[in-house]
Amino acid sequence: MFRVRRYRSILVAEQAAEFLRSRGVPAAVVGIHGPDVIGLAGFGGFQDTALDLVIVSKGLRAAAEKLLQEFHTQPRAVEGEWEHLTEPDMSKLDDDVTVRCAQCGAEMLANQAHETCTSCGWTLNIVELVVQQHGPDVLAECYECEPEQGELDAAQYVVPCPSCGAALDGEDVRGRCSGCGALYDKEEIVRGFME
Ligand SMILES: [Zn+2]
Ligand SMILES: [Zn+2]
Repeated sequence: MFRVRRYRSILVAEQAAEFLRSRGVPAAVVGIHGPDVIGLAGFGGFQDTALDLVIVSKGLRAAAEKLLQEFHTQPRAVEGEWEHLTEPDMSKLDDDVTVRCAQCGAEMLANQAHETCTSCGWTLNIVELVVQQHGPDVLAECYECEPEQGELDAAQYVVPCPSCGAALDGEDVRGRCSGCGALYDKEEIVRGFME
């Protein structure tokens, strides 16, 4: 199993996986240490969940990366939600990107997570200010996924038990479900998602 991207939004992650699958690259979305798990009902609170888009083998990585690039540069059908669900990582902005408070005009570094103006206390939406004052292009690098990529330890996955659906969030790749006692193999379950 090989991780190609990490997402915070189940919607975007699933769309990306679907996009890859539709073009012949088996892909699945796997939750990691989150409260919610792929295949389980209800994704409330997924904001705290890291979702990995995984492919079966490293050999498909180049193809997957190419497709994902295509996927991420295409405008999505759910533009509004997309923007809402994908949080830019503002800390990736350069130190020369500053924003001015809409209320008092004070200048602040955009890569610091200001919630209020340091000068007048006005509530700030840094992302909005950056877009207004610098254009959306500046944010491009903030949307890039984590640079760390590589082989995944399937033990990190949180996947649903194939028998009872309980979240398998234990450390073992293989073992028995604590809910129903069925034997499980996390790698196998993820592979099942890809079919
Ligand atoms: Zn201000
Ligand atoms: Zn079970």
